Amino acid sequence: MSTPPLASGPEGPRALRPLLDTVLAALDAGARARGGPLPAGGPDAVAARLRQAVGEALPDQGAPNALHVLIRAFAEGAADPAHPLCAAHLHCPSLALATAADLAASALNPSLDSWDQAPAASELEAMIAGVLAREIYGAGEREATSLITTGGTESNQLALLLAREAYGGSVRLVVGDNAHHSLPRAAWLLGLPDPVVVPAPAGTLDPVALDETLTRLTGPLLVAATAGTTDAGLIDPLPEIAARCAAHGARLHIDAAYGGGLLFSDRHRARLTGLNAADTVTLDLHKLGWQPVAAGLLAVKNPRDLTALRHRADYLNAADDTEAGLPDLLGRSLRTTRRPDVLKLAVTLKTLGRDGLGTLVDQVCARARDLAALVEEHPGFELHARPVISTVLFRPAGATDDTVAAVRRALLTDGRAVLGRTRLDGRLWLKATLLNPATGPDDLAALLHLVTARQATLVEGHTPR
Ligand SMILES: *Cc1c(COP(=O)(O)O)cnc(C)c1O
Repeated sequence: MSTPPLASGPEGPRALRPLLDTVLAALDAGARARGGPLPAGGPDAVAARLRQAVGEALPDQGAPNALHVLIRAFAEGAADPAHPLCAAHLHCPSLALATAADLAASALNPSLDSWDQAPAASELEAMIAGVLAREIYGAGEREATSLITTGGTESNQLALLLAREAYGGSVRLVVGDNAHHSLPRAAWLLGLPDPVVVPAPAGTLDPVALDETLTRLTGPLLVAATAGTTDAGLIDPLPEIAARCAAHGARLHIDAAYGGGLLFSDRHRARLTGLNAADTVTLDLHKLGWQPVAAGLLAVKNPRDLTALRHRADYLNAADDTEAGLPDLLGRSLRTTRRPDVLKLAVTLKTLGRDGLGTLVDQVCARARDLAALVEEHPGFELHARPVISTVLFRPAGATDDTVAAVRRALLTDGRAVLGRTRLDGRLWLKATLLNPATGPDDLAALLHLVTARQATLVEGHTPR
């Protein structure tokens, strides 16, 4: 058998073109076969269809049509975040532009662990890392930079690690009970003492309770606040929290994985006032940034914090190479081989500009307000609260938690709508996370209609498990 064509090199683009035609045709065929936001039938039916389509996964003799077959099955069985009724999670549809740029990253396959594998990629990463850090900290913070990560989980781990090392080896994490689960998990991973959890009675960290906690505790402390909670999209009172941290000499990390994207919007940026007080900030552009996964960032105000990540491997950053001017990349991640996720980001920032990204942010926030208004007007629904970002929590009025859960699962099994769920104030709520800028008001009305219709069939006794 002849060598399969390669993606880069002089023949790369020519080899890719017909394969891309195949991929695009298979995506189209798969989406048509699905016909909705999610494949119908639930996990068993989806698994059976996929297994049937794939057949033998590692045959003795290769199957030349596998690209079409697998991608078609993959698309048919996908949850499509570009479908207006797919609104469960912080799972955004990716921009075609960013996806196209990502193809170039895969084709050239640079790896950001040494300059000689990624000459332009490493410079582009340094540029974007600085630009996004200054977007967060302001133009005056010329030294601020960012690490490109796989997402909020990795960013939060790194923030805790940098705090531990800045304090010389230990730190205690102080978090609101609204914080993302990755923060206490990172404390466990890093062998730190159990985090201290501060109440968040209204869904946001209570600064008075935080002050009492900081007064009581001794030793090095890292407070982690949230700008955009995963469940409700709430923003902690950042200026008050920052003031308390400053008064008690505690470090501050702000997890803005979700809310950080508001920075691009003139209309909504002010909600992030106080963000620039943080020593480190988590930002996920695979949420309010419309990037294909992964597009995470940890902004670091003081680059001295990064000395903790310095690391030497002679084959990647020998001392004499570094002295001779070859950039040392190992200290920008705990990973070694690393994808240039920065390329799609750079293309998006430059093509759309602040204005274009801000418009997308404004659109999804407006849709959330529209949905909340529809829920409020509708006698069959109860609204949890007006949305702060783009998350709307609601429930059928008078329903039990079991019914709320069953309606959600029934819609999933039907493949008609994808809604999330969250428990707040002791009750179960349906969660719509609106991240699709193309969703229109009619789609929102259709979503509520589906929920009502499905609830009616459940109440009549056709309760699927
Ligand atoms: C999504 C999210 C995370 C985790 O980010 P991943 O990209 O999924 O790893 C952390 N914190 C908050 C507030 C989030 O919304």
